[in-house]
Amino acid sequence: PTQPYDDDNIFAKILRGEIPSNKVYDDEWAYAFEDINAQAQVHVLVIPKGRYVSWDDFSAKAGPEEIAGFVRAVGKVARDLGLVEPGYRMMANIGAHGGQEVPHLHVHIFGGEPLGPMIA
Ligand code: 5GP
Repeated sequence: PTQPYDDDNIFAKILRGEIPSNKVYDDEWAYAFEDINAQAQVHVLVIPKGRYVSWDDFSAKAGPEEIAGFVRAVGKVARDLGLVEPGYRMMANIGAHGGQEVPHLHVHIFGGEPLGPMIA
């Protein structure tokens, strides 16, 4: 079982507007903002508005509307950023072995340049 959601995690604070972020997209289900430590020309994080620790938590517990809303938002962010034609990468780290640092689900979107085989 996943750890309980921590309302003091940094992305919860970003969602509540307590910590500033460079907004890329915002709707009922998702919020997207620039990663503070970009690993590519474009590096955006997309997070659900709901309280989910990770992809594991979200995929098991979120309702169908919420899942659809979030998945659509991830796609829309990439389209709005013009990443589809050149291509891009999306990634989510889960838990300790996945290298997840912030315990609120986030999908990384990388693009704006050729990325090579993988970003560690
Ligand atoms: P993870 O390793 O959990 O998949 O990724 C966490 C990401 O969040 C990292 O890429 C890191 O640079 C980013 N990050 C951590 N703290 C902040 C913050 O306060 N603001 C923003 N915009 N990004 C953050």
